[in-house]
Amino acid sequence: MKNAIPYGRQLIQQDDIDAVVETLTADFLTQGPKVKEFEDKFADYIGAKYAVAVNNATSGLHLSVLALDLKPGERVITTPITFAASANCIRYAGGEVWFADIDPDTYLLSLDSTKKLIESKPKGFFKGIIPVDFAGLPINLEAFRRLADDHGLWIIEDACHAPGGYFMDSTGKKQRCGNGAYADIGVFSFHPVKHIACGEGGMVTTNSEELYKKISLLRTHGITKEDMTEDHGGWFYEMQALGYNYRLTDIQSALGITQLAKNKDGVARRNQIANTYKNAFKGKIKFQSLPENTLNAHHLFVIEVDDRKGLYDFLRSQNVFAQIHYIPVHTLPYYKEIGYQAADLTSAENYYSKCISLPMYPSLTDDEQNFVIEKVLSYTNG
Ligand SMILES: *Cc1c(COP(=O)(O)O)cnc(C)c1O
Repeated sequence: MKNAIPYGRQLIQQDDIDAVVETLTADFLTQGPKVKEFEDKFADYIGAKYAVAVNNATSGLHLSVLALDLKPGERVITTPITFAASANCIRYAGGEVWFADIDPDTYLLSLDSTKKLIESKPKGFFKGIIPVDFAGLPINLEAFRRLADDHGLWIIEDACHAPGGYFMDSTGKKQRCGNGAYADIGVFSFHPVKHIACGEGGMVTTNSEELYKKISLLRTHGITKEDMTEDHGGWFYEMQALGYNYRLTDIQSALGITQLAKNKDGVARRNQIANTYKNAFKGKIKFQSLPENTLNAHHLFVIEVDDRKGLYDFLRSQNVFAQIHYIPVHTLPYYKEIGYQAADLTSAENYYSKCISLPMYPSLTDDEQNFVIEKVLSYTNG
């Protein structure tokens, strides 16, 4: 292929450009009406009561652990197969990161491994769980909620890969990622490699009014004009907590609104691409499994091969830029050094030795995908 094929890329069209340009000449570049409009439309799409736009998902994760009152030394469980930010947010609050293993077929945080880890410690040892809808595959949060409730834990769903994905719960209801039915908070990313591109951006979703208020306050310095203890006049405000400037701009929100409107079609196209890969690889190459009645939003399409480095280098030589998701977080030098005791992470480590993410984005053409498939099959057949 003449043109390089990346593993993911944004789709920016004329309506996106028009929306941004229009905002540039409007009254507000930030803290204006586009932010609220984006929040309302996003909450509506996901099916959550509240949404708070933030400058990236990492900030969203940080505000989430703060809103849930994570204190230094308190312990939280997450998956090692995720982007570092899922774990880093725990450290920002001074908490300890504990890892449980993944399921070897779905690549999601294993309920079993999490349960074993929790039960190996005294009650109250852990405060929360941060499961990830890895690659866009919704994790079954109904099961995690039961476990969390048994042990008094909160759940932050890292849904960065999964806007539009859903699983079916035991009552037969479709539960969209981040809708807050089973998790306390959901977090999304609008980095251009994710579904909805804002340049940088993120969204925090919840059904709890209390958490919504806390997150909104902390997003903007902890400063508010509401629920004040005093009032000296029109100028007056109070700083009620030590917050941050984690705001999304109106320019970015305008882009987010047009991008969000494309997400349904984007997820459908991603699933079409996934099915083409699956039909080509069935019986030959292992790929992420799909539990029944679940829609994978397919941020990624991951396969496992024995000679992963060989395939990665070969694809690069063919101008196909596959990627590895992820180097297990517990093996990163920072986490190795602070070394919190972890569960048996054999499945995560086995997975890492074989995983490779193939190109997956709505504008990937059939010709490009067929080229990728042909190269993968020709390499793995030896
Ligand atoms: C991208 C990503 C993040 C961080 O998102 P940013 O918007 O870049 O801060 C967090 N968690 C996961 C799983 C991600 O993929």
